[in-house]
Amino acid sequence: MSEKIHDRALHLIAQARVEGITEADSTWLRAHLEECEFCTGHVQQTDRALRSLRSASIQLPQGLASRTQFRVRLRAQELREREPGRRALWVACAASWAFGLVSAPYVWGLFQWFGQRTGVPKMVWEVGFGLWWTIPALFAAAVLLMENSRKGEQSDWIDQGN
Ligand SMILES: [Zn+2]
Repeated sequence: MSEKIHDRALHLIAQARVEGITEADSTWLRAHLEECEFCTGHVQQTDRALRSLRSASIQLPQGLASRTQFRVRLRAQELREREPGRRALWVACAASWAFGLVSAPYVWGLFQWFGQRTGVPKMVWEVGFGLWWTIPALFAAAVLLMENSRKGEQSDWIDQGN
């Protein structure tokens, strides 16, 4: 078999996958492949290469999508942290803690006075004072829990949207 025939076959194999070939060429190629191991091997190699190319090109947008998703998520987080409401929360918490710290001796005195006036055991008004201290913490924890559940909903939305 001459080189030219194989060249023609290889050319047709490539052409068939890019732009298509005529019925006559296709018939000729099929006939040639039936008796030529070399060109049949070339067809298999070409198909394998095309397959891996295709799967590689599928992986690329997937990676791109997750990177885009990551960027969207990062941006959403950035915006959330800049949210005025959130800043106000931290200011309120800080103010609440600061107030608690400054007012502690007075509050302690108040609880003590209340305890002495009502004859409530020392234990009870001490616990009351402790609870007074946990109020800002409870408030902050409640708001953070609310924030977190909202955050969860938002990232669900991002997952679905992209
Ligand atoms: Zn051949």
